[in-house]
Amino acid sequence: MSSETERSEVSKQASGETASSDAERSEASGSASDPASDPNVRETPAGKATGDRTDTLLQTDNLVKRFGGFTATDSVDFSVDEGELRCLIGPNGAGKSTLLKLIVGTLEPTAGHVYYDGQEITDMEPNERVQSGISMKFQVPSVYGDLSVRENARLPVQQLADGAERRRRVDEAIENAGLAGYEEVQASTLSHGQQQQLEIGMAASLDPDLLLLDEPVAGLSVDERTEIAERIRRLNREEGIAFIVIEHDTDFVGEIADSVTVLHRGDVFREGSIEEIESDPEVRRIYLGGEQ
Ligand code: ADP
Ligand code: MG
Repeated sequence: MSSETERSEVSKQASGETASSDAERSEASGSASDPASDPNVRETPAGKATGDRTDTLLQTDNLVKRFGGFTATDSVDFSVDEGELRCLIGPNGAGKSTLLKLIVGTLEPTAGHVYYDGQEITDMEPNERVQSGISMKFQVPSVYGDLSVRENARLPVQQLADGAERRRRVDEAIENAGLAGYEEVQASTLSHGQQQQLEIGMAASLDPDLLLLDEPVAGLSVDERTEIAERIRRLNREEGIAFIVIEHDTDFVGEIADSVTVLHRGDVFREGSIEEIESDPEVRRIYLGGEQ
């Protein structure tokens, strides 16, 4: 397979083709051309799964991703409600990062469908998905160390907004990252926790309805984790952003999650509250199995 290179990272879209502003987006959502409110579109699979008659924001339908002969995502039906804060856990190699990349569009599925807010987005380019309201912070850090905090914060929004609106979003990203006062500091001199916060702030500045975070607190201290947990909760409650957060630390998951999905061997193994998941002997068994 030669086509397994991932599409370019979305949260760094410096090359968005079509400029889109808040005003355009909210105008579109109120108009008759909004797919979710069009009665004809309601009857499509996307409309039925994620249209205006349901609280479901995202739904995957039988989603499959194979790398050569290896099935990393195995017929996954997974959904997230509007404004929900969902954590995704599972042993190493369970397919968590792959599922997020299929949702954000940096990987193309082998089969199946992805529906989002009344539309089918299975074949949509990542930058179009950003404009539809999906944003992601990848597992691999993507802050530019030789740029300042402000220059980094400007990257995701520079094609989406200009003038005062761009400045507002850059300031908001820095504020959401808890980095007010650090604007001119070179990003490489920030602590690892501050860099992670900067990335979350940058991903949130794209004004998403759904924000995907791949291991946002890996390698961080307890204090840094607490701060990021608060940051995520605030964005969820105050801005109404729905989240899918991949994380291993069950204390952290318990602090933030409305509900938890366990992935195992590419498919959904369990879903429930953190208490249900933690007390489930089968979940313990797959973790203790230590499989890769
Ligand atoms: P997780 O994030 O749950 O640890 P991943 O989604 O990263 O797991 O990976 C799931 C499985 O798919 C792993 O076995 C991994 O080696 C494999 N995989 C992921 N990306 C690729 C790729 N680009 N090419 C081949 N195999 C891959
Ligand atoms: Mg991963």
